[in-house]
Amino acid sequence: MAIPTARHSETATVRIDYEKCKACGLCAKVCKGAPLYLENDKVWVDQTRYFGCIGCGHCAAVCPTGAIVVEGREISQTSFMDIPAKETRAENEELMALMLARRSIREFEEREVEQKK
Ligand code: SF4
Ligand code: SF4
Repeated sequence: MAIPTARHSETATVRIDYEKCKACGLCAKVCKGAPLYLENDKVWVDQTRYFGCIGCGHCAAVCPTGAIVVEGREISQTSFMDIPAKETRAENEELMALMLARRSIREFEEREVEQKK
């Protein structure tokens, strides 16, 4: 069973590459739709459990070995990005400076906008 939304009523698909899987259980721990579970030292996929795969991608994001592929509900392998190296990330002060320096300036033109837009 999937969570129906205005855009999707079907589950996403989840594939585990058991050659890469180390059965750490992290994916099952964070799984939001709950199709993933750990049993007998193996991760299993059961789309009939709870909501089925909602395509949130948490499992693939936390998997330390890249053993999970999630597709469907507008998520695919190209949705995932590498996390930047720690030394390239902003510290608190830099982040605060960036946010304080940011401005949103909205200027509008005197013209009709189609209802669809
Ligand atoms: S997080 Fe990855 S390595 Fe760990 S159990 Fe899940 S698929 Fe296997
Ligand atoms: S994408 Fe989300 S709901 Fe689907 S198996 Fe992974 S964690 Fe669970």
